[in-house]
Amino acid sequence: ANSFHGNNDAFLARQAEFESNVRSYPRKLPLAIAKAHGVWITDVENKQYLDCLAGAGTLALGHNHPEVLQSIQNVITSGLPLHTLDLTTPLKDQFSEALLSLLPGQGKEYCLQFTGPSGADAVEAALKLAKKVTGRSGVISFSGGYHGMTHGALSVTGNLSPKEAVDGMMPEVQFMPYPHLYRCPLGLGGEAGVKALTYYFENLINDVESGVRKPAAVILEAVQGEGGVNPAPIEWLQRIRKVTQEHGILLILDEVQAGFARTGKFFAFEHAGIEPDIIVMSKAVGGGLPLAVLGIKKQFDAWSPGHHTGTFRGNQLAMATGLTTLKILKEQDIAGKVAEQGEWLKAQLAEMQKRYPVIGHIRGLGMMIGIEIVKPNEAADHMGAYPADGELSALLQKKCFEAGLILERGGRHGAVLRLLPSLLISNDELKIFLDKFEQALLGAGIKPV
Ligand code: PMP
Repeated sequence: ANSFHGNNDAFLARQAEFESNVRSYPRKLPLAIAKAHGVWITDVENKQYLDCLAGAGTLALGHNHPEVLQSIQNVITSGLPLHTLDLTTPLKDQFSEALLSLLPGQGKEYCLQFTGPSGADAVEAALKLAKKVTGRSGVISFSGGYHGMTHGALSVTGNLSPKEAVDGMMPEVQFMPYPHLYRCPLGLGGEAGVKALTYYFENLINDVESGVRKPAAVILEAVQGEGGVNPAPIEWLQRIRKVTQEHGILLILDEVQAGFARTGKFFAFEHAGIEPDIIVMSKAVGGGLPLAVLGIKKQFDAWSPGHHTGTFRGNQLAMATGLTTLKILKEQDIAGKVAEQGEWLKAQLAEMQKRYPVIGHIRGLGMMIGIEIVKPNEAADHMGAYPADGELSALLQKKCFEAGLILERGGRHGAVLRLLPSLLISNDELKIFLDKFEQALLGAGIKPV
């Protein structure tokens, strides 16, 4: 029996008293959680929400999956220590073998490095390692990229708002435009836009007059998450791989959000058939508990003992829940299921778009879908994109919440509503999502045409 009941507002008021002003999710999703199961969250007043945020993509198998819970139970009864620094255990051994087997080439060319508990921590390690390997210090990153809130990770993050929190970033970070299906940064769009951006990247690296020193690394997400759900064009990714390889620049793929079957492939970079030099993994890899790991091409395993240490490396419970998650994702071909569901959902949303022109653009892959909210009564740009409507998307997020649907926003002006549910979400639950989303549109006073 669950005894966590009470008054939602009272918990929120106490949270505001206890915690710093920087807390962000509670402002948009004002609930105190009593319990959760699968795609459902129940608050302390017993109201149910369809959770299409899933810990920002962390809960690949949803909340409290029975096998995930059982794996925690197994650790408890096994007598394994909860904390081991970076010593090994039979559980760590199993987890490492299972994770490596999922990396490109069954992981034969890679080794793992456990870092601290968060994605940002792993990004820091990746950037430091690339600098050590190459003896260079610059990093190229992309507009719209998100890599975390620690100093280095924030420095390579595109969004300027969190940078207001601190004065001064890591030097020698160069941002380049990331392709965008709806709002091409070059104003070209389509294949022409992708071609020009590919040429631009290549030229910047090759041309001594470009003003950009050869960097240690290029870091990117194959599908940008916080940046508003932008999948990279395959040919652009392939060219970046080729150019970085030719110049001895390490390519770091941040798979923290898009990895682990979310986009319909086990890793998002697999859509382009490329092999990164460093793979940054967190969120789903720990099955809901804190874990972050780097996959490093063996020839770049350049550190010696003592170069990069830390207390919390490879939490045993997270390896148990992570191992169970990896097994289920693989054995049940969740990537295949998710790929189909993503295409179905985008088609359904495209039907809805015909009735609701405030839906400007639908994009994404698998269970990583973005819905960009626009002002359809204002002038579109020359490529047909209407101005983004961050205010309406904020209102829609609120109306979704009132309708019992938890969604996140992202992208420029926060105008993109983002769907990142459990990968085990059923087709019926996706229909509930569509119903609730339409209810929110109507609740926001949007009339279907
Ligand atoms: N990289 C990406 C792509 C992310 O989406 C996030 C978190 N949203 C991070 C890194 C940072 O992870 P963490 O919040 O665990 O530091």
